[in-house]
Amino acid sequence: MAKKYMYFFGAGTAEGNKEMKDLLGGKGANLAEMAGIGLPVPPGFTISTEVCTLFAKSGGKIPPAVEKEIMTNLRKLERASGQEFGDEANPLLVSVRSGAKFSMPGMMDTILNLGLNERTLEGLARKSGNRRFALDCYRRLIHMFSDVVMGVPKKKFEEILKSWKEKMGFQFDHEIPALVMEKIIADYKKLIKKETGQDFPQDVMIQLRQAISAVFESWNNPRAVTYRREYHIPDDLGTAVSVQMMVFGNVGENSATGVGFTRDPATGKKEIYGEYLFNAQGEDVVAGIRTPSPLRKLETEMPGVFKQLKETTTRLEKHYGDVQDFEFTIQEGKLYMLQTRNGKRTGPAAIKIAVDLVEEGLIRKEEALLKVEPQALDQLLHPIFDPEEKKKHILLAKGLAASPGAASGQMVFTANDAVAWKKEGKDVILVRDETSPDDIHGMSAAQGILTGTGGMTSHAAVVSRQMGKPAIVGCCDILLSEEKKTLTADGRTLREGDWISIDGATGEVLADRIKTRPSEILQVINGEKKAADSKMYQYFTKFLSWADKVRRLRVRANSDTPPDARVAYAFGAEGIGLARTEHMFFGKDRLPIIKEMILSEKEEDRRRILSRLLPFQRQDFYEFFKEMHGHPVTIRTIDPPLHEFLPKREDLMVELTELRAKKSKDKKKIEELEKLLERVRALSEFNPMLGHRGCRLGISYPEIIEMQTEAIFEAACQVAKEGNKVFPEIMVPLVGSAAELANQKVIIKRVAEEVLAKHKVKLAYTIGTMIEIPRAAITADEIAEEAEFFSFGTNDLTQTTYGISRDDGVKFINYYLLKGIWKDDPFSTIDIPGVGELMRMAVEKGRKTRPNLKVGICGVHGGEPRSVVFCHQLGLNYVSCSAYQIPIARLAAAQIVIQEKQGKKTDGD
Ligand code: ADP
Ligand code: MG
Ligand code: MG
Repeated sequence: MAKKYMYFFGAGTAEGNKEMKDLLGGKGANLAEMAGIGLPVPPGFTISTEVCTLFAKSGGKIPPAVEKEIMTNLRKLERASGQEFGDEANPLLVSVRSGAKFSMPGMMDTILNLGLNERTLEGLARKSGNRRFALDCYRRLIHMFSDVVMGVPKKKFEEILKSWKEKMGFQFDHEIPALVMEKIIADYKKLIKKETGQDFPQDVMIQLRQAISAVFESWNNPRAVTYRREYHIPDDLGTAVSVQMMVFGNVGENSATGVGFTRDPATGKKEIYGEYLFNAQGEDVVAGIRTPSPLRKLETEMPGVFKQLKETTTRLEKHYGDVQDFEFTIQEGKLYMLQTRNGKRTGPAAIKIAVDLVEEGLIRKEEALLKVEPQALDQLLHPIFDPEEKKKHILLAKGLAASPGAASGQMVFTANDAVAWKKEGKDVILVRDETSPDDIHGMSAAQGILTGTGGMTSHAAVVSRQMGKPAIVGCCDILLSEEKKTLTADGRTLREGDWISIDGATGEVLADRIKTRPSEILQVINGEKKAADSKMYQYFTKFLSWADKVRRLRVRANSDTPPDARVAYAFGAEGIGLARTEHMFFGKDRLPIIKEMILSEKEEDRRRILSRLLPFQRQDFYEFFKEMHGHPVTIRTIDPPLHEFLPKREDLMVELTELRAKKSKDKKKIEELEKLLERVRALSEFNPMLGHRGCRLGISYPEIIEMQTEAIFEAACQVAKEGNKVFPEIMVPLVGSAAELANQKVIIKRVAEEVLAKHKVKLAYTIGTMIEIPRAAITADEIAEEAEFFSFGTNDLTQTTYGISRDDGVKFINYYLLKGIWKDDPFSTIDIPGVGELMRMAVEKGRKTRPNLKVGICGVHGGEPRSVVFCHQLGLNYVSCSAYQIPIARLAAAQIVIQEKQGKKTDGD
């Protein structure tokens, strides 16, 4: 049998179904599914994504076999619709719709009303008895087709339309009568001729073929390519094309088009939610041309249709086991469904919906866990405005609360400005009449987004929710001039660069910058709010408790201070994976001691001074142990080069020169400074990152390690004596050979045993090492002879594997990403083929020597979902990350277990 490239769907039957997203794209698969379960879907057929690849391979031509199948399906569609494509008396009109496996909102093209020409136009006019309607369709077709296929900028069509409306005194498109519509169409045609030298094609088959080709081509338009890069969507998936019979929301007052969600995508509230426009078509609702009405109004205007819509979408939600984001059209009182997909939602809504769906019995817990993007949890921890602070500022306007979160920033009016200002380190709010896919980069750079038009389903709203950015849309209280870069509201005019604040949870736009305070979840964790009073906290903990039951990876925290550790524990940390002791040295009372220690040349002096530091460290460690309630606490011995604790050489030189110039009498001060400068000079290194640091310091200054070990075990003994559990793990950094670790281990062990003996305390502890130098990974079998655990320091490991300093890399890594030389920044997500391979080697070799070797990770990657998945696959015991990433890691670690069980990765819509 010949290969099948097309899948037909029509009332009650469909060749495809919702599982076929690879072939049919999300839109095509769901159209088939809806038709298959008997929902009112206009008939059509979907050309598979495989044709997109064929099309590109054959140099942008539709292969003959495909062409033949299109004709067969078109005939079938004619029979199903009782109309004929290109027929003068009874013309069939179709839409040609793009749709990839993963939704890429607004990135690719769709053309409506294909099949109209001068002759079929008259047929449609006669058949419908509504010439104005037929002309409206024709004008829309010319506009869309010429933009997408013939490359005439759509702005130019909009200008013609606008000037006619102004001339005739109409405010809205649907007020334009047939006579004026004809004039507009005539102007459109002239424009095309002028711009392209060609006429708008009258042959309907040419229209269809060119439209299909254009949709395939739109897969590779720059916007779509950038979008895929941003969302990690592979380039070779291709788009499907659905050809579908048109239904018309623009016939008159008893027709409409609309979009909606089965639950509120901002809060998760269980309530049908959406917008519609009478006498309109397609994108009119989201384009912000007229302000649409809320679905609530449909209930009173067309109660029968509303009831049917509600029943249909409730059924869809049950059927899909998830919130649906749907499109519909009402043609003369009859409802048609045109699209459905799993709705994008904010982080807080995602959690609420996932938990509610389980409790309503619609899905199982494991399914619920897969419904929330780990990164989206971050949004629940975002700050909100301090209510008291908020009261002190002027409320400029109120718009639709499209995406929650509080943001303050300086106003910019273009996406490019947003990016440029952000680069200068400024926080910006992007203010636009409305956003389009061309604004994505600016939205991504902004702290928040404010638009003057558009509803809850406008581009700005949808994309902001997806990005987790605060946004207010459809704020008609403000007067915007994108040209003059001003915003007028409440009788005052603000300019580019002025500060404003937006509260995406309430829709309030306020003047100036406003102080924020912790999110509700953090308030509970900090004890400012009772858990019983916070629904959000209850949802959050319930959801994550499900994740904890499933995951195999443990999750620990990187914490440098005991208060940090307390927050981490509240977020679910099961221990500390990295406590950087040197961060404790920066305290006001400690830094002078450290300095003095570094300045003294004799070992005995250093020992004396270090003994003054000991009580501080002991107290810190004691508190760490207490905060972790018996879970393991990994303490790293000193790591950074010593000069980090001393003043900068240039500063000292300046100070000294000034003193001398002033002919200061303070001899002692000058002498001190000279000595300090000399020491700073001696310690300065060409490349400190590869210099005297880590265990290299511990080897040359064993007394530091002795003091640290003593402090750790003194603290541990104290905790144990108080009857509490304690489990210290001492970690030696920057080891490249087993011998280095052996040297440090002898010191640590000796001191540890001395302290334990002195206090007559028995407790378990381990000594291990970081794996952060390629040589350590390569000789992991030897290192494991000494090490009782490994922890991957993937920041240094990435630096040393790539030979790129993380601090200097920022200058060029962006170019690499822009040019597509790298898909990802290896400092944000683990470079699996390189750094990851070294990790794999280290795990294998290490466990060959020591089968029970405990292995973790403590680099920043430990809280990044894709890296967490990789760590799970490598068989690590735990990941360690910052407190705020702990919920993310807990969820990512659970999801991979569920996906492994299901044997596949789930996708979007
Ligand atoms: P997008 O992916 O940009 O949403 P769609 O293919 O969904 O593009 O189509 C754009 C708009 O046109 C949507 O509002 C959709 O409902 C509408 N539309 C598409 N096909 C038809 C059709 N056959 N009849 C009526 N409206 C349609
Ligand atoms: Mg759509
Ligand atoms: Mg390191």
